[in-house]
Amino acid sequence: MNLFERFAMILTRSRKRRKMISYVIVGIVIFFGIIFGAVISILTAPAEIRSSLFHRDEIKRIGVLQENSAYCNGIPIIDSSPIKIISTYPWPLNGTVTCQYGGRILYGEDEFHGGIDISTGKNDPIISIADGTVERMQIDKKSYGLYLLIKHDDGFYTLSAHLAHSYVREGERVMQGQTIALEGGEPGADPYPGRSTGRHLHFEVRHTANQNSRINPLILLTK
Ligand SMILES: [Zn+2]
Repeated sequence: MNLFERFAMILTRSRKRRKMISYVIVGIVIFFGIIFGAVISILTAPAEIRSSLFHRDEIKRIGVLQENSAYCNGIPIIDSSPIKIISTYPWPLNGTVTCQYGGRILYGEDEFHGGIDISTGKNDPIISIADGTVERMQIDKKSYGLYLLIKHDDGFYTLSAHLAHSYVREGERVMQGQTIALEGGEPGADPYPGRSTGRHLHFEVRHTANQNSRINPLILLTK
């Protein structure tokens, strides 16, 4: 009796074993069927989905941006989550940059300027530079006046300050290009100007909601 005959004898004699072997065969067929199905669905998936499976989107780590980042009162950046820069963003207000990000002298004192000032000198509309959700709409009489803090879907925050009017409220979704507020900041003429000497938008970009995570907004805005 050769090996195959012996094997056949075992199979035919034991019903229990026959059953077990048939289960194993069915199991193997299902297993390879699933793998085959997965391979076919990946190969036939749209190119976009296929590339997202194998290549991560281009994400610039905060380290790239850090050389331009704010160290407010000696406190370094507190968050290292990546900002996804998908493109450059539109300007929140089309005006003149009257004050750049960085060190400056204000009221005779050295002060770090954590944003840029853009001015048209009027109550012009201000837009959201990207899609997001309004995190804060508050009045800070000592500094920002009426301001909006928006959490954007791309992983950063923007703050717009010295507003004459806000069209959006906390928790509200905003889309890129949507008018969210009106330029203000003129003492005596605009409500809640905060610490401002004339009509302008003070605009900040932050990694987190925290003031210590500010970066130069020009990094994100269209040149
Ligand atoms: Zn400012």
